[in-house]
Order: sequence, then C-alpha cells, then structure tokens
Amino acid sequence: MASDTGLAFLRDAPPSAGGPVFAFDNSYARLPERFYARLDPTPVSAPRLIKINEALTRELGLDRDMLATPQAVEILVGNRQAPGSQPIALAYAGHQFGNFVPQLGDGRAILLGEVVDRAGVRRDIQLKGSGPTPFSRRGDGRAALGPVLREYIVSEGMAALGIPTTRSLAAVATGEPVVRETVLPGAVLTRVATSHVRVGTFQFFAARGDGEALRLLADHVIARHYPDARDEENPYRALFDRVIARQADLVARWMLVGFVHGVMNTDNCSIAGETIDYGPCAFMDTYKPDTVFSSIDHGGRYAYVNQPRICHWNLARFGETLLPLLDDDSDKALALANETLATFQGRYGRALMAGMRRKLGLATEEEGDAALAQDLLNVMAEAEADFTKTFRALDPESDDKVRPLFSDPAKYDTWADRWRERLGREPQDAAARRAAMQSVNPVYIPRNHLVEAVLAAAIERDDYGPFEEFLTVLARPFEERVEFADYAEPAPAGQCVYRTFCGT
Ligand code: AMP
Ligand code: MG
Repeated sequence: MASDTGLAFLRDAPPSAGGPVFAFDNSYARLPERFYARLDPTPVSAPRLIKINEALTRELGLDRDMLATPQAVEILVGNRQAPGSQPIALAYAGHQFGNFVPQLGDGRAILLGEVVDRAGVRRDIQLKGSGPTPFSRRGDGRAALGPVLREYIVSEGMAALGIPTTRSLAAVATGEPVVRETVLPGAVLTRVATSHVRVGTFQFFAARGDGEALRLLADHVIARHYPDARDEENPYRALFDRVIARQADLVARWMLVGFVHGVMNTDNCSIAGETIDYGPCAFMDTYKPDTVFSSIDHGGRYAYVNQPRICHWNLARFGETLLPLLDDDSDKALALANETLATFQGRYGRALMAGMRRKLGLATEEEGDAALAQDLLNVMAEAEADFTKTFRALDPESDDKVRPLFSDPAKYDTWADRWRERLGREPQDAAARRAAMQSVNPVYIPRNHLVEAVLAAAIERDDYGPFEEFLTVLARPFEERVEFADYAEPAPAGQCVYRTFCGT
C-alpha cells in the first residue's frame, strides 16, 4: 500500500519542462521479434493539431499543454520519435467475414509504447494512419480525416456511456491527401487501448503451429489483463473463461444502447474486452433488429441482432487457438474448451437481462421479465419506435412522452399496462426509480446523421465547431440539457444514413 501511494504521488507531480511526453515502459516490445515488426512511422508534410483529449490526458497522467506543443504534435503525427518509444507494428491474423487470413497485422498503425495510467493500468499508445508497415499488403498505411473523426467521436461517446472501449487521445491532420474513392484529407489518430491483443493475434501463432509463441502470448495477456487467472488450477482455461466473460458483457452493453459494430472480424475482437476498431460502426435510431450499416456487409453477417452469435463464434476461434495450452491430451483439451465456451450464452443472457431490467426500472428479478422486455422490443420494431428515445421516455408516472414515439401508440399502451402491473411489485420509490432509469437510458448517443454532419463540416468547411460541440454533448450522455435538444433527435425523414464505409 505504501509503495502504491508513493507512485501515485510521483505521477501527480507535473512533468518537468522538457521532460518526456510519455513515460514509456514497453512490455510488448520485449516479446520475441516474431510478434511484430520494428519500424518508425512515416513523416508527413504539414501536421496540424485537431484535438487533444484533455480528460484522457489527466487519466493517463500526461500534461495536456505539453502534449499540444509543436514538438509533441510532431510525435503524435509520427514525424518525431518520442523518447522511450519502441515503435512496432503488431502481427496478427484473423477471420474476415468468416474467411481466415493468416496474416493481417497493423497495416496502418504503429504502437509507440505503453504507459501506466494513474489507476496503475498499463495502456497502449498507438498511432493509426501513420504510414505503411510490412503488414500493409496493398494499403497505403494512411487514414482519412473522416474515419479518424468518426472513431474519435464514437469511441469517446462509448466511453462516456460506460462501455469498455479503446480511447482517442489525439487527432492530427497530416496536410497530405489520401486516395480512396475520392481524394480526401489525411489524419492520424492516437489510440489508447488496455492492449491491442486480439483473437487474431492468437490465431496468427496458432496458424503457424508456434506453440511457444502462443504460450508467451497467453502468459503476457494473463499477466497484463487477468492476473487472477495465474492462481487457477489451469490458468489458460481461466484465461479463456475471463475473456468469454468480458466479451459477453461487452456485447450485451452494445445491444443495450443499439450499437452496431459493423466489422466483428476476429482481428477486431479484443482479448481485453474493449470495443476496438471503429470502422463502419453506427447506432440505430429506429429499433430494427436486422439493422446493418456497413457498405461491405452484404449478407448482414454483422447485423445488430447477430452480434451475440458472432461474438460466440469469435470466441470459439479463440478457444481453438488455446487447445494446445489447455491440455496435452487433445480430447481433454477440446472438452475443456467446449465446456468453457458453453458458458457464453448464459453469461450474455444474464448481462443483457440485468441491463434490460435497469432500463425498465426493475430493481428485483422475476421470471417474466425477459418476456416483458422482449415484448417491448417487438412493439418498438412493429411501430418503428426510436430505440434510445423510447427507453429514455419511459416513465411510470406518465406516457405523454413515450406514446408519440410509436406509429401505433395503442400497441405501446397494451404493453405499458403489463409494465405498470410489474412495477407494482417493486419496492423502489418513484424518485429513486426515475433517477436509476435516467442513469442508464442515455439522452445523447452518437447518432449517425449527426456524426456525418460533424464530419462534413470538418472536411468540407474546415469547421471544427460542430465536432467540439458534439464531444461536449456526448461527454455527459445521461444529462438532459435543453440547449442540446436537437442532439437527442433521430435523423429527419430522408436524412437517415443507411450506409457507412470503412474508409480503408
Ligand atoms: P480493419 O478493417 O480496419 O480492421 O483492417 C483490416 C486489416 O487491413 C488490418 O490488417 C489493417 O491494418 C489493414 N488496413 C486497413 N486499412 C489499411 C490501409 N489504408 N493501409 C494498410 N493497411 C490497412
Ligand atoms: Mg482491424
């Protein structure tokens, strides 16, 4: 305890002028060379700072002003090496839309290093869009401004909603064009993650039959994310178990806010259980279970309603990579893996129901609650109700706000009778219930038409006012503010964005 306090005290001290921007300690770069490629980011011609995430700098124990100096911005765009940095592009594989690709890797991202945050958690500092790497294949290693801003907005919105996610520390425009379907301005995002190890990282070594690397990777992940697994009889089984628990909880949280990730490939499935890789992701307005946004998801594989099933599928792929570690006897290993994987549905179901009860204002559990929640969703789907607005408007005292959200309010009324009957058996008083419901049903989410409008202002008019204001709104998603009323509204008819693009 005493040494902890001492460390916290040191981290509280302001960094000395001219001291390093980041106090790097790079555990991943100490793993064998076949885990990554060492290389520097590729410099750009005209960096311009767009944004520093002030709240996150505090969390990381960094000095915001120091991070905004021209020298630090040069680091954040890849033009200058940060002291203590050991830049690497990580190797990984992955199933993309169900097809296995034995080598993907960081094709446009470079891990600068790791820092220990003020809570003692090790965090990766990664540049995304920082130039080609040995893993780039045919890509240019760059990121366009639009997708960088989208990731910044949505990841910070998710964090404010309390959903585990990678974070965005900074965005810097490169002053260089990137060629996609059209020519677009380029940018670099500084992404922060509790690690960038993915299911695909394990698959990379499993596909090569590299048992030694698998063990090293598993030990690294256990030490870093799941230290209590070390004390279990079978630490690798415990690792699988913990990852299943985190992913089941994560996807339940997505479902509870109407988030569609869009590219749930195994290389985008974080071992630490964070939402990672914001590409064509979006939140739904109207509740439609089969909602798909991604322009490349033709079969709807990653539709909203499919997310838990896909997560389970991805975890099965993870389990396969662990088989040689689980037991020397391959039959026993398989049995262990299957037994552990089988916990997913129950865990997901419990996490979802716990969240649904909170959304509905239920503090106790009853058998019929799942059906009650499902029936509301069914009515919402039939009557094309807005997902976020409906839950926020639910009020045991009055239906005035919620009824107009349903094209056929009578359908809502029938359900509401049952809801009130159920609430009658709840011990909570009305005020406590209202506060509890408002703390889980957001007013503001990163609605897609708003994201698009913010990106357009930045890209077409070099106007970052809307970006800044949107971040202000999203930082306190549960707190209704009259001046921001428009941000709570779904897309006006005709403005609904049906397609989102990876931007790769
Ligand atoms: P993603 O769809 O972002 O998950 O990326 C899938 C794979 O493609 C990863 O290996 C990325 O590093 C790689 N990739 C995506 N965009 C680019 C790009 N512009 N240049 C090089 N590699 C890329
Ligand atoms: Mg990816």
